[in-house]
Amino acid sequence: MHSYDPQNIFARILRGEIPNKTVLETEHSLAFHDINPAAPVHVLVIPKGAYVTFDHFAAEASAEEIVDFHRTCAQVCQMTGVMPGKGYRAITNAAEHGMQEVPHYHLHILGGRPMGRLVDPA
Ligand code: 5GP
Repeated sequence: MHSYDPQNIFARILRGEIPNKTVLETEHSLAFHDINPAAPVHVLVIPKGAYVTFDHFAAEASAEEIVDFHRTCAQVCQMTGVMPGKGYRAITNAAEHGMQEVPHYHLHILGGRPMGRLVDPA
């Protein structure tokens, strides 16, 4: 159901084939700056495991991976100053309707300005 493409760009970043601006790396997770930031703070947090979407990760990752991922997100919020601070938005896109571009699960942490409406009206 969740078929993982090992050639996706984040898999290549994890293999060191493409450079990234790392914010934080842990045993199971990597956080790095988005190449095309949509806000003054725009960090992507990814698990190192081969998970395609949030629901895939939530269903199949180990407890250790899940805790590591969320602790990494918390540290990124602190390191980038969005919390404590003026706050942030955490977004994940999944598949076609989510308009996911890169098929490796990632959480966008966005901040540094008011983030506007949650979604565009259809
Ligand atoms: P999605 O639409 O899949 O939720 O978001 C993918 C994100 O990955 C986009 O915000 C895009 O700018 C970012 N991105 C795509 N390719 C690269 C890359 O090679 N390096 C980095 N750091 N970010 C990338």
